[in-house]
This record gives sequence, structure tokens and C-alpha cells, in this order.
Amino acid sequence: MFKGILIEKGDAGQSATLTEIGEDALMEGDVTVDVAFSTLNYKDALAITGKGPIVRRFPMVPGIDFAGIVSASDNPEYAVGDRVVLNGWGVGEGHWGGLAGKARVRGDWLVPLQAPFSLREAMAIGTAGYTAMLCVIALEKNGVTPDKGEILVTGAAGGVGSVAVALLAKLGFQVVAMTGRPEEATYLKGLGAQEIIGREGFTSPGRPLAKERWAGAVDVVGGHVLANVLAGVKRSGAVAACGLAGGMDLPTTVAPFILRGVTLAGVDSVMCPREERLEAWRRLASDLDPGLLAELTQEVSLDGAIEAAGELIAGQIRGRIVVPVNPELG
Ligand code: NDP
Repeated sequence: MFKGILIEKGDAGQSATLTEIGEDALMEGDVTVDVAFSTLNYKDALAITGKGPIVRRFPMVPGIDFAGIVSASDNPEYAVGDRVVLNGWGVGEGHWGGLAGKARVRGDWLVPLQAPFSLREAMAIGTAGYTAMLCVIALEKNGVTPDKGEILVTGAAGGVGSVAVALLAKLGFQVVAMTGRPEEATYLKGLGAQEIIGREGFTSPGRPLAKERWAGAVDVVGGHVLANVLAGVKRSGAVAACGLAGGMDLPTTVAPFILRGVTLAGVDSVMCPREERLEAWRRLASDLDPGLLAELTQEVSLDGAIEAAGELIAGQIRGRIVVPVNPELG
């Protein structure tokens, strides 16, 4: 038996509790992993609180990512004792996830732990950090380089935003961090942001085109914020959009695209092909200052993760939450 969070659905709606789970209950897969660390991402918080339609079958163990050690394997790629990382593939949504002592998954969903990271560091990065890296790669693919000018990061004090700020600053970009929490200015400057701006001016409908300011942007917010960011992107710039923390809609016009050649690059970490994942983890190893990881991480126990989920959705959590499940393995 091992401890895990279980989301169940009854007549009164869905609820999440910390409970004892037997290994026999785990879903199908050819690799079983002792989970050392998992994390709390926005999607996990939506699943645990029931604030978003994330869970596709009940009961469900949430946790869209984990890092751990293989305890059993029928997959030729993995042997007992291997250190592995999982991000996405519908785990924590349609397949039991990482917020439990063990997980059983398909081996082709896993990637080997990337040196020099420890299991804990891999989860300090987690899906949010790996997605931030995918966003930076998307900007690079669209020709956004440090000499082109300022890069805006929205939702900067959150998980994806914090890692994006740190990565872009280390790569030599001039980073402007947008946040609804001005009290986090010192934190964001510590990650490398050169300027902090509030989100007030971006949350209402704006003009189709605004003064050209941003060479590029990483957006986790969507809605009016993304529309207003697009309106201020310079000719031939690009925006990597990965999130909906501010809304699912996109009330924009075609003006930025057809009059300034702006590119809107969508980023999906869940079904991202294996080669691109491995590339993102290699890039994180070279482009993320490991010293900053401690700065942007806090630990919350499995039990505490249920309460922290509500705080995360309310925008009260700074940076990343690591959940030590079996930290002695780490
Ligand atoms: P966090 O909750 O850690 O960060 C989100 C941040 O967005 C908050 O910290 C806050 O930043 C800002 N924010 C929150 N609510 C609002 C609001 N109503 N309006 C405007 N800004 C808001 O979440 P993550 O960083 O883990 O994830 C961010 C987004 O990216 C989520 O929508 C998530 O689903 C998505 N995501 C997508 C992935 C993909 O594969 N496409 C993978 C990972 C995440 P501040 O306080 O600085 O204003």
C-alpha cells in the first residue's frame, strides 16, 4: 500500500482526499515507478479543486508529472533502478498520475532523468518549467533573438512565468515581467527581469494595434491579456502562447498578423513528441541557472497539496510547488 491523492465523483460532486492505495489498483502500463517527487501545476490544481474539466475518468490520481525510480519494467528501454521523469501524455487526466507513492505508465511516455538534475530538481522544473523551455524554443524558431529587443513574460510570478523569466534572462534577452502581484518585483528581478509591469492595462479590450514594443512574448494568460500583447508586438515578432490562466477566449483581430507579420506560436507540452521533449530537457540543463531553482520553489506535502491547489488557482502561489512523495529516493 502507498499514500496518494484520489479524486472521486459522487452525487455531491467531486472530492479529493489523501488515501491508501494498493499497487494492484494502478492502471495498465509496462513500467512501474516509485515516485520520489511530484509537483502541483495549474492543471493539477484545476483537477483537485474541480474548477476545470481536467479529469476524464474517476477515480483519478492527479499529478501530470513525476520523477522517480523504476521498480518494475516489461519495457526493454527501462530497467529496475533507472531514474525517470514523466510530463503530460494525459497522466493525471485520463491515467493515474504522480501525486501518489507509485505510478504505472507506458515506458514510451517516460524520459530518462537528464544530467545534471536530481529527481527533486527535475520536479522543481516540472511540467511548468519544461513548458517554459518549449516556449523559448518556439520564439527562437520564429527568429526572436536577444538583439531584437524586449521580451514580455505574462503571469510572470507563476510557475511557467518564473522559469521563462529565468531562462530568457540567462540567454541574454531583455525581459519585462508582467504580474498582477507588484509585491513580487524583487523576486522577479532576482530571476533576471529588467522591468516589472502591472497587468492592469492589459485586461480590458484594447485597440487592434498598439505601439510596437515587444520583440516577442511568452503568454500563460490568454484572453484580453494575450490580445493586447499581440497588438504591441513589433513587426515580424512572435508570441509563444501556452496558457489560459486569464481565460480560454482570444478576443483579437487579424491586424497584428496581416499588418505586422506577427506569429502566434502555440505550445503544447502534453502530446509533444519525444525528440522535442528530450531537446527541451537538454536545453534546460544548459540554459537554466540551477541556483535559481531553489529561489522559485517551495515544498508542500501530499496532504498539503489539496489545500495548496485552491491557493494556486487563486493566483496566490509564487513560482513552483514541489511535492516530496518519497523524498528519501531522491
Ligand atoms: P501558475 O498558477 O503557477 O501561474 C499562473 C500565473 O498567471 C499566476 O501566477 C498569475 O501571475 C497569472 N494569473 C493567474 N490568474 C490570472 C488572471 N485571472 N488573469 C491574469 N493573470 C492571471 O500556473 P502555471 O504557471 O503552472 O501555468 C500557467 C498556465 O499555463 C496555465 O493556464 C496552465 O494550464 C498553462 N500550461 C500549459 C501547458 C501547455 O502544455 N500548453 C503546460 C503547463 C502550463 P501573476 O501573479 O504574476 O500575475
